Amino acid sequence: MKKVDVLVIGAGPAGYVCAIRAAQLGMTTACVDAWVGRDGKPALGGTCLNVGCIPSKAWLESSERYHELLHKVSAHGIKVKEVTLDVPAMAARKDKIVTTLTKGIEGLFKKNKVQWIPGVASFTSANTVEVKPSVGNGDPETVEAEHIIIATGSVPRNIANVDIDHQHIFDSSGALDFTEVPQRLVIIGAGVIGLELGSVWKRLGSEVILLEAMDSFLGMADQQIAGIARKEFQKLGLDIRLSCRVKSASVVEGQVQVRYQDDAGEHTIECDKLIVAVGRKPSLEGLNPRAADILLDERGYIHVDEHCMTSVPNIYAIGDVVRGPMLAHKGSEEGVMVAERLAGEETTIHYDIIPWVVYTSPEIAWVGKTEEQLKASARKYKAGVFPLAASGRAKAMEETAGLVKILADERTDLILGVHLIGPMASELIAEAVVAMEFGSSAEDLSRIVHAHPSISEAIHEAALAVNGRSLHI
Ligand code: FAD
Ligand code: NAD
Repeated sequence: MKKVDVLVIGAGPAGYVCAIRAAQLGMTTACVDAWVGRDGKPALGGTCLNVGCIPSKAWLESSERYHELLHKVSAHGIKVKEVTLDVPAMAARKDKIVTTLTKGIEGLFKKNKVQWIPGVASFTSANTVEVKPSVGNGDPETVEAEHIIIATGSVPRNIANVDIDHQHIFDSSGALDFTEVPQRLVIIGAGVIGLELGSVWKRLGSEVILLEAMDSFLGMADQQIAGIARKEFQKLGLDIRLSCRVKSASVVEGQVQVRYQDDAGEHTIECDKLIVAVGRKPSLEGLNPRAADILLDERGYIHVDEHCMTSVPNIYAIGDVVRGPMLAHKGSEEGVMVAERLAGEETTIHYDIIPWVVYTSPEIAWVGKTEEQLKASARKYKAGVFPLAASGRAKAMEETAGLVKILADERTDLILGVHLIGPMASELIAEAVVAMEFGSSAEDLSRIVHAHPSISEAIHEAALAVNGRSLHI
């Protein structure tokens, strides 16, 4: 029987980072992972690297370049005679990036002496798991560990009467493997995945309809930002329909017929391909947490405290399989926290200061509270806004749609939330995260010198605006 100090189950961004950090801190560490890549071989990296963050961003980048050539560069005086599209080449570029990165984790495991065990882990007690090989017919292996960290991630949610057939009806994983542009694409769910993948295929030429159950758009974002986003997505041509209850989807003569109901009644729309993107659920298949007496919460996630300890003191759980946003960076930081706490350090995470990014065009990013959340909590706040239409850099880029909004406590001026929509929002949000981690007031931020001309000046101006000191608007 193999014996280690730390066994991590799952090698997504939560698990592999946790394993590396634990090994760096001197613990003998193994990481079991069940993922099998498209080539039939075990692959590290989990959802994020194989079918999530990385492949979706590769498609977003390529499709944005294509869209720019067709629709944006002419404003700069550039005339392009012929633009052709090679979707298989785009898909191959995406695959190469994925393979390079997943192989990179193999290298990091070797360098840090993390033992990689490809297979499906199943608890047999609070200190032991049985691992069945994920490829081939090898015998199961038992691993005993002093500490076990569950990082089994999440899988897509399904909806009733819509069966994924991987030919016409797909979840997000299948939708990252299209090798031709669907003429008509319907996406159920106008959340983060729906908007990112909808943008990809719209830019590449599909007609895209998004059917969203809620009556509000991008409910978790600040609603002023969501309103601007919706207008920009409509300009791109995304047909976003709210308050839609999908009743069924069926394939008739190679076409998907989607039946849904809204306030006006029942409708049927036809498309070549349907993507279901209605959220994700914790992945517990095969894990058998009961054998170790691990409690689940009321929503089926593994119950943990603020330091990711489960109901069993030597077992921790991190990433998508526990409460909190399903974001790669949240899982990775939980992995670092748990490894360091096992080594006796007092590491914690500020869950209030986790950045969110939606990688559409314009990009949307935020950290902290939205205006709606502050109103609901009755906290008195002040807001400062700077529209990108007044930014010299945004004008030079021809990217003036968007704004920066900063929310600060009315009395203390402490920054409570920062919301961006516009170019490079995914990068700019880091400044807001640093400011909030250091307990910055809006005035502190407004007294920091920002380079000119840059989009970051809009953050400076929004901070000035919080205290009525705008200079350029
Ligand atoms: P996962 O990445 O899901 O990894 C879990 C691993 O555990 C998998 O390899 C799985 O095979 C393995 N496993 C499961 N059960 C067992 C078992 N019993 N035994 C052994 N191994 C097991 N997040 C962002 O922050 N930014 C983005 O841009 C972003 N884009 C996304 C785009 C898409 C299309 C999707 C689907 C997700 C995206 N996400 C993004 C979310 C991000 O992928 C997840 O938050 C992240 O992958 C969660 O990491 P994790 O380590 O908790 O789990
Ligand atoms: P999501 O929660 O962002 O969006 C799902 C959407 O589907 C919601 O708007 C919901 O109201 C809607 N919905 C639910 N049931 C429905 C139904 N029956 N009919 C119509 N609409 C319905 O989830 P997602 O887009 O599937 O993404 C899953 C998770 O992956 C996200 O929560 C996010 O954390 C992560 N992710 C992050 C990024 C990023 O960070 N850029 C990108 C992609 C995914």
